[in-house]
Amino acid sequence: MGRRRQLYEGKAKILFEGPEPGTLVQYFKDDASAGNGAKKGVITGKGVLNNRISEHLMLRLHDIGIPTHFIRRLNMGEQLIREVEIIPLEVVVRNVAAGSLSKRLGIQEGTRLPRPIIEFYYKNDALNDPMVSEEHITAFGWACPHDMEDIVSLSMRINDFLCGLFMGIGIILVDFKLEFGRLFEGDNMRIVLADEISPDNCRLWDAKTSEKLDKDRFRKDMGKVEEAYQEVAMRLGILPEATNSDMKGPEVMQ
Ligand code: 5GP
Repeated sequence: MGRRRQLYEGKAKILFEGPEPGTLVQYFKDDASAGNGAKKGVITGKGVLNNRISEHLMLRLHDIGIPTHFIRRLNMGEQLIREVEIIPLEVVVRNVAAGSLSKRLGIQEGTRLPRPIIEFYYKNDALNDPMVSEEHITAFGWACPHDMEDIVSLSMRINDFLCGLFMGIGIILVDFKLEFGRLFEGDNMRIVLADEISPDNCRLWDAKTSEKLDKDRFRKDMGKVEEAYQEVAMRLGILPEATNSDMKGPEVMQ
């Protein structure tokens, strides 16, 4: 890690120059933050788990034809990705009311929504990632109407697929946040899924008990954060080669 040039450090990840032009190395930190950095902490083992979980989900999405920035996992904490021009939007897809939707509209947490709802937030820490509409996005040139068509249809397909995948392992996909980027190949530009998909940016509830298996455990000081991320990894059938010794094997899922 030391020899590579660091290009960007975010709250949960660091991007380094990749081995070939057009590639980057994405390193997953154990650092956790909430409330736009107001609350900070470390979740031991989170980086390794998110690297594996995001790899798994990006590969499954690739299998169904969703273009992503993911190339391959390099080691426990890092993955090789394509360099993209990040579109400054957080795209949130919701299936069940929770978090800011419940707060803003007074809808009880846990209420199933009549249909999936997509929301857009302008990625800007100084402004606290304000919610915006397609009008703002296209008027200010963050994305054009054609980009938005791709972003919406990709987000819906990702949601359909991930809802089924998680339901198959007894987890309700309540909501999640996606980021997209522009991938330039010669004269062509494609919108691709970027960033990560992990319990850091999804709400995942156990289908039987509604137990939270995601970053809300950290946000709400509920404890057992790493255990929740491990549970998600175990149910997905993926485990880090070696994290801590008390991690149960996949056979407990029988
Ligand atoms: P809410 O708007 O209810 O706070 O979040 C909706 C969903 O998007 C949740 O699954 C949450 O984890 C994710 N999300 C929204 N904003 C962010 C963000 O800035 N960082 C991360 N990691 N996830 C976010």
